[in-house]
Amino acid sequence: MADLSLFDLSGEKALVTGASRGIGQELAVALARAGADVAITARDAASLSPCAETVTRLGRKAVPLALDVRDVAQVGTVVGAAAQQLGGLSILVNNAGVEEVTPSLEVTEDIWDKILDTNLKGSFFCAQAAAQRMTAGGSIINLCSLTTEVGIPTAVPYGSSKTGLLGMTRALAAEWASLGIRVNAIAPGYFRTAMTEVFYENDAWQQAMKAKIPMARFGNLDDLDGIAVFLASRASAYITGQCFPVDGGFLASI
Ligand code: NDP
Repeated sequence: MADLSLFDLSGEKALVTGASRGIGQELAVALARAGADVAITARDAASLSPCAETVTRLGRKAVPLALDVRDVAQVGTVVGAAAQQLGGLSILVNNAGVEEVTPSLEVTEDIWDKILDTNLKGSFFCAQAAAQRMTAGGSIINLCSLTTEVGIPTAVPYGSSKTGLLGMTRALAAEWASLGIRVNAIAPGYFRTAMTEVFYENDAWQQAMKAKIPMARFGNLDDLDGIAVFLASRASAYITGQCFPVDGGFLASI
């Protein structure tokens, strides 16, 4: 019989970036429910109150901190503060991300820099700052995307950032295995959040997209809980450098 304590995160200290809403908020609460204390970040600390209150209600410690992941100096300071207030760090979820749907002929340097600096550069320096504090090893989980597997028109900076993040996931996994730090990624399929709302307002898009998903529905945020807890926990102790699609069968069927 399986030992379910493999999934227990009691005593673990997690940091989740971009936890003011959407997937980051969901995953911070999922890790807390599995037993972890959680530091949560977003650019405005006040926006973290709902997540912090939920984590606290679960009996876990919540440490809300303001962080713009594009600011490398701030990343070092804030990740340090998170580790200090939690009493260590063993899990990082690199979730903070942005997208601006733009035809490639109209992409400006500002759009390119905003997306790449948030999704790729920010994730790297958060991983570096976290790894420096994971003295007893740890688990880093990066939020990739289906754009790491398929080319999506009008999402070129975004797809470039997420494909870069996949390369980073693999290279850091190879480099940090000797430190006891595992690095994996989740590639969510179609989930309705503030980031993707622009698509869901279009009924025709919804119908056409659902027809391409074998499970015939979009993802619910809690569809991501299991994989995040699994990758954060001892249950995945021998898994590193992998990216797990959570997409209702989309990639398998195209
Ligand atoms: P949301 O827009 O709902 O949330 C994005 C989060 O990132 C917010 O908490 C936001 O905080 C934070 N963030 C954005 N920019 C920065 C920044 N410069 N510094 C710090 N935090 C920042 O998006 P989702 O929940 O949908 O996306 C979460 C992750 O999942 C992203 O990496 C996204 O690419 C990925 N993903 C999402 C999919 C989906 O279908 N929704 C599909 C595939 C991947 P604030 O603005 O308050 O600072």
